[in-house]
Amino acid sequence: MKERRNFLKSFTKVFKEDKKENIIVRPPYYEDKDFFYKECINCDGVCSTFCEENIIKIAQDKTPYLDFTQGGCTYCDQCAVNCPSDVLKVEYKKNIEVKIQIDMLKCLSWNDTMCFSCKDPCLENAIDFVGLFKPTIGQSCTSCGFCISYCPTNAITIK
Ligand code: SF4
Ligand code: SF4
Ligand code: SF4
Repeated sequence: MKERRNFLKSFTKVFKEDKKENIIVRPPYYEDKDFFYKECINCDGVCSTFCEENIIKIAQDKTPYLDFTQGGCTYCDQCAVNCPSDVLKVEYKKNIEVKIQIDMLKCLSWNDTMCFSCKDPCLENAIDFVGLFKPTIGQSCTSCGFCISYCPTNAITIK
């Protein structure tokens, strides 16, 4: 799967402006958000070293967050399995708690220019194109974030 995504990405050579997200997205294995602030301060960001996609970054307050600018979450469990403080636990596994949306004003397809850049990286097949245009993210979206970095106009956003 990773190879397929990397192959597709090699064809995305359109210039993209730097994108700044203010939303904090946590790894999808926690029960109580307060534990990040209580426990991670005593940890050297162990979870980030086990992330196969290298999307876990450690903030200045030493808590982990997901950065979708270069990849997405495979739900591989490794961050939870290796968390030494049980902030992240496999038994708390859930979909990432953000909503992924397509900004119709920025999206090429919504503006009559054919583009399928986000469709193929979505292994959940969650993006429907109505009559080749008007992509819409459906219920099967797991908020994995993989589609975000493939959009040439940064039209896929996190809510
Ligand atoms: S589940 Fe895997 S890919 Fe997702 S954040 Fe954790 S280590 Fe990274
Ligand atoms: S491994 Fe656990 S305790 Fe360490 S930073 Fe990650 S979530 Fe926090
Ligand atoms: S539409 Fe949802 S499931 Fe598909 S790649 Fe994007 S975030 Fe992942």
